[in-house]
Amino acid sequence: MHSIQQQIDILRERISRAAEQSGRTSAAVTLLAVSKTRSSAEIRAAHAGGLRNFGENYLQEALPKIRALSDLDLCWHFIGAVQSNKTRDICQHFQWVHTLDREKIARRLSRQRQEFAPQQPLNVCIQINIDREPQKAGIAPTELPALLTQLADCDGIRLRGLMAIPEAGSNPVKRRESFRNMHQLFEQSRNLAGDDWDTLSMGMSADFEDAILEGATIIRLGTALFGPRPSNHR
Ligand SMILES: *Cc1c(COP(=O)(O)O)cnc(C)c1O
Repeated sequence: MHSIQQQIDILRERISRAAEQSGRTSAAVTLLAVSKTRSSAEIRAAHAGGLRNFGENYLQEALPKIRALSDLDLCWHFIGAVQSNKTRDICQHFQWVHTLDREKIARRLSRQRQEFAPQQPLNVCIQINIDREPQKAGIAPTELPALLTQLADCDGIRLRGLMAIPEAGSNPVKRRESFRNMHQLFEQSRNLAGDDWDTLSMGMSADFEDAILEGATIIRLGTALFGPRPSNHR
């Protein structure tokens, strides 16, 4: 394994090659470092290597790290399942939520965010269950117009775009097709979604180049950056 700095350099190179192939520059793609299971020290090293955006799945795990790193100018993204009893902490400590899939949660986040930061709405992506897997979080593509309409009056959140996790273990061709479907859905929803609609959060360590080729603007990388996680964590 390389040092975190070497790993970041290698990834930046791969990201910019894929971005150029998709007719964009590397500035169009944000590397979100998925820091679940990683220590504050590892996050600090990644920040020293030039990263600023970090993603966490579990609130209990994230809060102590966010506190320990509050001297740094970091942008925290919540990428796990949002439970209603966690919305208050999430909208107080995170700038982004990638996993919104219910109106009720959106309304709570919006209302609570307005208490904490009336001038800074919470950035949200709606999670799409793009391969229609029975157990997976996210709404079906056909449900998106209705949800966008319901959220139009939520002033505490800024609708930024869509997020997806394609089916695990599907072949690269199918994966690429899922990313392409996401991009289409993203473009089709632009009129309903409003002016801030600029984010397509898709692509992880195993498939981020394909995601970039299909228009990803945020890729979420854990393993490729920090190495393998303990096996009891997904
Ligand atoms: C863990 C996780 C990632 C990162 O996965 P890697 O394969 O380690 O890059 C990305 N997105 C979400 C939602 C995750 O839970």
